Amino acid sequence: MDKNEVLHKYFGHSGFREGQEQIVDNILSGRDCLCVMPTGAGKSLCFQIPALVMNGTAIVISPLISLMQCQVEDLREIGVSAAYINSSLDSAEYFDICRRAYAGELKLIYAAPERLTSESFLKLCDEIEIPLAAIDEAHCVSHWGQDFRPSYLKIAEFIRTLKKRPVVAAFTATATSAVKNDIKRLLELNDPFSITTGFDRPNLFFEVRKPEVKDDELLKILKNVSGAIVYCSTRKNVEYVGQMLLRNGIKAAAYHAGFSSEQRKTAQEDFLHDRVDVIVATNAFGMGIDKSNVPLVVHYNIPKDLESYYQEAGRAGRDGSPARCILLYSKSDIAIAKFMIEHSHEDSELSFEEQNELKKRDYLRLKKMTAYCETTACLRREILLYFGENYPHNCRNCGNCVNNVEVEDVTVEVQKILSCIYRLKQRGKTENINVIKNILLGISDSRIAENGYETLSTFGIMKSVKPERLQLIADYLLKEEYIEQDGQLCLLTLKADELIKKKGTVIMRFEKNKRPVPENNELFEKLKALRKKTAAALGVPPYVVFTDATLLDMCAVLPKNHEELLRVSGVGMRKAERYGKKFLSVINEYSKKTASF
Ligand code: ADP
Ligand code: MG
Repeated sequence: MDKNEVLHKYFGHSGFREGQEQIVDNILSGRDCLCVMPTGAGKSLCFQIPALVMNGTAIVISPLISLMQCQVEDLREIGVSAAYINSSLDSAEYFDICRRAYAGELKLIYAAPERLTSESFLKLCDEIEIPLAAIDEAHCVSHWGQDFRPSYLKIAEFIRTLKKRPVVAAFTATATSAVKNDIKRLLELNDPFSITTGFDRPNLFFEVRKPEVKDDELLKILKNVSGAIVYCSTRKNVEYVGQMLLRNGIKAAAYHAGFSSEQRKTAQEDFLHDRVDVIVATNAFGMGIDKSNVPLVVHYNIPKDLESYYQEAGRAGRDGSPARCILLYSKSDIAIAKFMIEHSHEDSELSFEEQNELKKRDYLRLKKMTAYCETTACLRREILLYFGENYPHNCRNCGNCVNNVEVEDVTVEVQKILSCIYRLKQRGKTENINVIKNILLGISDSRIAENGYETLSTFGIMKSVKPERLQLIADYLLKEEYIEQDGQLCLLTLKADELIKKKGTVIMRFEKNKRPVPENNELFEKLKALRKKTAAALGVPPYVVFTDATLLDMCAVLPKNHEELLRVSGVGMRKAERYGKKFLSVINEYSKKTASF
């Protein structure tokens, strides 16, 4: 059978996608390949079709058991004889596979990299014809990759021991040049045909949300959605979110590596077969899971890096139909991510120095991930830039492009901030960003008084600017490297010098204020009146009871009971207990009245 027949008859596809045919042709002509294609692009087909066309048994090396099982089941489903060899097999199963391989019955064997050094496996490989070794998720061989696996380093040696060298084809979704070079070198690819297909997935809508209460936001997002994946960073979160969804009447299954293989299998199959609407999982779920009709991927926590994010989010809309990828961001998640970095390389085979080196890279990646969450620029462009692709315009199909963004010229404010640092430098001083902000805002504290900063010409020149806005601009200057930090201390970069000299312009994008002042101010006015009365009785100023922001949030949330009141920003246990009843009764009265209209 030739490649086209295989494509139509076995896989049922009408044609090849970008890159696929070239790869298949190169493999068939005997040339090694290095293929970089984004998740969902269709890498598996690129080695499965040659495996079916060539004589003998192709070996596919793949890092995860679930990945192998999935692909092998799919292949069997379409009538291809394939098997996997990994630690989940008992010896009877293993010998049965060997028997079928010796008999020439298998077109593909999927093997975990750890198998490559086992004697019985080497013996088997010695006796069968192997035309192709395909290495899936090949970035696992690289320290620079996000999923480094030491056992991948043994692949080259394994291939060298084969009596006839097969064609070697490596596949990954990670495109950085360091990773590509490592793959070529460490897998000993021989003058490979290299291809990197475009990383853009135009059908995916990217969005970052910063909800005050994630659970509520998640429930809102999942309403009427069937087939969503919700990723959490920890097992604990998976269990919590899974329970929370069930409690709220959403059909959900949970999946993480701590569950028994039986439980995982059930969860996975319930999801694949649409028996549940949502699967809540750690990143252990999904690598290679071939469900093409996933309309939504939500990240409940920040992923560790953009590689992971794009791969996980990319599991949405594989069939090319419009799909959404929403990340729920809160600053507190960064602490969890850092904790995981600290402990991630602990039981690897690496030396202390190597571990530290990896940690450093992980921190850098996390920083970029955080920048993605905080940017107001086009999200698609940020992602593609990260993967080294230029995307010259705004995509009009991401949260930042279509939502609440306002573009403003902040040149004058930037100049004030930079010149404050410059004036300090003239006095031989460097300071951290908080001190600099206070100088600009004209807020005198002991540090400022001790150093006589009140006499700086920049003291108080941004008095009328809101502190939050100043913070946003300062963050932007750090991110765009106008300011660099030595520890906490802020220094001007060349870029800043140039801006001061040439008087260029700085344009920033700000999120519009998301919380609208209630259209009908009636409730807000009532709450203010109640606040005033309450405060007067206690002899304290009104804002001590609740701030305006809290009252506005009450208007937006319209809490019905004590529990819901606690979700309002600025309402803690204590205030809820002290003032809750009265405020709730005003809100309830108002809700009843408006509901009856
Ligand atoms: P990757 O490994 O690159 O993430 P997969 O190999 O899992 O991607 O394929 C993703 C999806 O694309 C699968 O549902 C697969 O059936 C589908 N697919 C692959 N190639 C084609 C094609 N030529 N035409 C239509 N669908 C395809
Ligand atoms: Mg794949």
